[in-house]
Amino acid sequence: MVGALDHQIRAVLLGAPGCGKGTQAQRLAAALGVPAISTGEMLRDAVARKSPLGEQVEHVMASGRLVDDGLMAEVVSERLDRPDARRGFLLDGYPRTLPQAETLDRLLARRGERLEAVVYLDVPEEVLVRRAAERRRADDREEVVRERLEVYRRQTEPLVAHYRERGLLRPIDGDRPVGEITADIVATLRG
Ligand code: AMP
Repeated sequence: MVGALDHQIRAVLLGAPGCGKGTQAQRLAAALGVPAISTGEMLRDAVARKSPLGEQVEHVMASGRLVDDGLMAEVVSERLDRPDARRGFLLDGYPRTLPQAETLDRLLARRGERLEAVVYLDVPEEVLVRRAAERRRADDREEVVRERLEVYRRQTEPLVAHYRERGLLRPIDGDRPVGEITADIVATLRG
């Protein structure tokens, strides 16, 4: 039977800090019936629980830099093995480097799966800067916000070209009302 429950989507949300990925991931998960997997949230949770993983990543997270690829591979591999990810998933915040993109391909291939789409939320630089100023968490110093943006440019933005070359990139104008963006992404993923 073909129905909503059978629909599987395996997609990644990509974009700069402040592009709205987290918000869209939650909305899309509800609309599409697959889990939103946010590595940032998983790590923040580990830090809050003071788990061994949390203690390992706390410092690097506070600096705005990236947790190392090997550790992230373990985190994501375990999460994708959970039953709710069998029918599909939306990854929010992973991959963030080219080696992570390769790891993801490998993890999926091992399960006989592959990535179907990479939604790239495109938001102009000046909007990102304005949002960063508005959203700044109490413990985010300005240089940490700036470091996150730089880390994105240096380590994550190359993924845009990487996935475009593979025909997976779905660019979406992210400088619009939230609901419009969600509808656009749902249409793109279903199309
Ligand atoms: P986020 O909420 O996605 O902005 O993630 C918050 C922080 O968690 C980042 O600034 C990184 O330090 C860390 N983090 C989250 N996802 C990853 C990832 N895929 N690779 C490395 N570090 C990550």
